[in-house]
Amino acid sequence: MGSLGIVPDMSERRFRICPICEAACNLEVKLEGEHIIATTGDAADTFSGGHVCPKGLALPELHDDPARIRAPLVKRGGAHVAVSWDEAYAAIAAGLGGVRERHGNAALAVYMGNPTVHNFGLTLGFSEVVKALSPGQFYSAGSIDQLPKNLASMLMFGNGNAVPVPDIERTDCLVVIGANPIVSNGSLWVVPGFRRKLAALKARGGQMVVVDPRRSETAGVADLHLAVRPGTDAWLLAGLCARLIERGRRPELPARGIELLTDALATVRSAETRCGLSAGTIDALADRLMAARRPAVYGRVGTTLTRFGTLTSFLIECVNVLTGSLDRAGGALFPEQAYVAPPRRRVAQTFGRFTSRVRGYPEVMGELPVAGLAEEIETEGTGQIRGLVTIAGNPAVSTPDSDGMARALGQLEFMVSADIYLNETTRHADVILPGTSPFNDSHYDQFLGSMGYRNNARYSPPVLPLRDRPDEWRMMLGMAVAIREGRPGAPEELDAFEDEVVVAAIARHVGGDGVLRGRDPHEIFQAIGPACGMERLLDLGVRAGPWGDGFGSREGITLEDMATSPHGIDQGPLRPRLAEVVFNEDGEINLGPDAIIQDIERLRQEGTSDGLLLIGRRNIQTNNSWLHNLPALGAGPRRAILEMHVAAANARGIADGEEVCVASGAAEVRATVRLHAEGDPDTVVLPHGFSELSDASQPEQRRGPNSNRLAPADHIDGLSGTAALNAIPVEVTRLG
Ligand code: SF4
Repeated sequence: MGSLGIVPDMSERRFRICPICEAACNLEVKLEGEHIIATTGDAADTFSGGHVCPKGLALPELHDDPARIRAPLVKRGGAHVAVSWDEAYAAIAAGLGGVRERHGNAALAVYMGNPTVHNFGLTLGFSEVVKALSPGQFYSAGSIDQLPKNLASMLMFGNGNAVPVPDIERTDCLVVIGANPIVSNGSLWVVPGFRRKLAALKARGGQMVVVDPRRSETAGVADLHLAVRPGTDAWLLAGLCARLIERGRRPELPARGIELLTDALATVRSAETRCGLSAGTIDALADRLMAARRPAVYGRVGTTLTRFGTLTSFLIECVNVLTGSLDRAGGALFPEQAYVAPPRRRVAQTFGRFTSRVRGYPEVMGELPVAGLAEEIETEGTGQIRGLVTIAGNPAVSTPDSDGMARALGQLEFMVSADIYLNETTRHADVILPGTSPFNDSHYDQFLGSMGYRNNARYSPPVLPLRDRPDEWRMMLGMAVAIREGRPGAPEELDAFEDEVVVAAIARHVGGDGVLRGRDPHEIFQAIGPACGMERLLDLGVRAGPWGDGFGSREGITLEDMATSPHGIDQGPLRPRLAEVVFNEDGEINLGPDAIIQDIERLRQEGTSDGLLLIGRRNIQTNNSWLHNLPALGAGPRRAILEMHVAAANARGIADGEEVCVASGAAEVRATVRLHAEGDPDTVVLPHGFSELSDASQPEQRRGPNSNRLAPADHIDGLSGTAALNAIPVEVTRLG
C-alpha cells in the first residue's frame, strides 16, 4: 500500500510505468486476482501513447521468475542462505562496522547501478546509505554511461543536471550522433515510440541525419547516414563548430568564451578528417544545419563512452548554441518535471574537489569513476577499499576490464548487495537484501522526469500489495540505520528516521527560494499525506514543483492527482527556460571553460588508430547485464555476436558464422562472426552485459562474450574518467 492510502483495487486492469529503461512507457497490466496475466502498452497514456517493447511485455515473467531473490540472504560456509531481515541487518552492521573499525570510513564504498535511477525508493534511499557510510567513496553506473554529459553541462551551464533534449515534435532537422533511438527510444532523452515521432517529423518535411560508425537500426531509416570512425566525433564536431563560426554564426543567447573556443578549434581544424569524413562532407553537414529552420543535435553513448566523451558532449551543445537551437522551440530544450528535490547548496556542481587514491581521477558531482574501483580495492595502502555496498548494479559485468573487477570483488573483506538476482556481482556479497518486483512498488521517475520529449506528470501506485517485507525505500533506511547504529533498527526507529528525512526536506524547501519559501514547516508536515512511506517526500516535491499546488498557495496538482490519473497529466510541449537552469554566476553560457580549452589541446595531440576498433550495440531484447534469463527475451538468434565488415573479414580470411578470437590490451574473448557490408569497414561491434560463466545452470541466452572484458580500465575520457567502452583497439583472428 502506498502511503497515500492507495490500496490496489483488485480490478482486472491496472497501470504501471515500466521501470526497465529510459523510455518510461506506461503499461496496462492485466490480472486475475493477484496473478499477473500480461502487460501491454497503455494506448491512453498521455506521454508514451501505447508504446511497449519486448522487455515491457516480459515483466510478468520477471515478477514470477523463480530465480528472483525473495528473502534476505547471508553467506555462510560459502553458500547464501535465507535469513530474517533482522539477521541480515545485524550481519551488515557487524560486517561493515568491522571494516570501519579496522580501517576507517575511507575503506568503505558504494556502487549504485543503473536500475536505481528507475526506482524512486532506491534513489531516495541510497543517499541515506551513502550518508551513513560518509565519508566513504561513491561510484555509480554514471561513469560507464552519461557522466561526460553531466560534466559538459556543468562546465557550460554551471549545472551538471541541465541536459537539453531535442524537441522532436517541432524540429525539422534532427542530428543523432552515436545513438540508436529506434531501439532505445531515447537515452538521457525519454522518447517512447521514437519511430512514430520520426515518421511525424518526416511527414512534416523534416529530416534526420545519423552519425554512427555502424549502420544501426536508426541509421537505416535516416535521410543521411555518416559512418564516422569510432570515437572521433570530437573532430567532426570541432570542424562543424569552426565552420559555423567562420560563416558568421554567434551565440544568440547570453554567452562568453566564444573567442577562446574559436582559437582552440582552429588548432584542430586541419585534423578534422580523422573522423573518417571528408572536408566536403563536413561542409555539407554544416550547410544542412544552417539551412534548417529548427535543427537539434543529440548525442549519446557513442559520444560519451569515448576518450573525449566530455569534450564531444560539450561540442554538441556548442553546435546547438551556434545554430540558435539551444533553448528554442524545435531545437534542444531543458525539460521540466513534476517533482523538485529539496534545494541544496549546489552540491551537484563539483569537479575535481578530490581525486581517487591510485590514479588521481577527479571526482565529478561527488563520485569517482568506476574504471578505477578495482584498483582501489586491490592496491594496498591507506584508503584501500575493503567494504562495498552495491545497489542494483552488476559491476563485475558492466565495468571495463570486467575480469579485473570480478577478481577485486573477491578480495573485499565485506560486501553487501541490494538486488533481485544472484549474479556475477552479488555472488561475492556477504549479505544480499532482495529488491521487490516492479508490480509490488510504486513508481515515479525522478531522474527521467527531467528528460522527457514533452513535459508530463506521471506516477504509478503499486499494482499488487507488498506483504511481509519492507518496500525498497524502507529497506534502504534499514540498511542506513544498521550502518549508523551498528545494529538493526526497530520499526519505530525507522519511522522516526523517516520523519527526520521528511522534516529535513521540508526545512530545505521552506528555506529555499521556491514556492514554499517562508512557509510554516509544521503546517507542511501535517499536510503531507498519511502516516509514512516515501510518498510523503514525493508529495512534498510535487506540490513544491512547477505544477504543484504549493500546499494551498495556488492552483496546482498533488501526488494524489497524479495517482488518480493513471494515464499521466500532460503538461504541454517543452518551453524555453535557460535562465532557470544556468547556474553560472553571471547567468551566461560558458563556451570557453579552461578544462575544455585544454582538452582541445589533448585532442590536437591525439594520434589515430588504423586498426579495428570495437564499439557496443543495443538490442531491444536485452537490458545491460540483466533480464537475459527471462524466457520471452531469450527467443530468437543469439545476441552476443560480433558484427564485422566483410572487407575486414576478407582481409583476415574470416567467413560468416566463424568462431574468432577478439583480443584487446585487456582480454581475449571468443565470438561468432556475423558479416555485413555497411558502415565503417574497420569497426567491429559486440554487445556488453553478457557473461561467459561456465555455470551450466545459467540459461543459454545469458552466456556469451562481453565487450566490457575487452575495455582496458585505463581507456577513459580524459576529463571525467568515464570508461571509454567504445573505440577499443582490437584484433580479430580465426580460431585454430
Ligand atoms: S521501451 Fe520497453 S523496457 Fe523501455 S520502458 Fe518501454 S516497455 Fe519498458
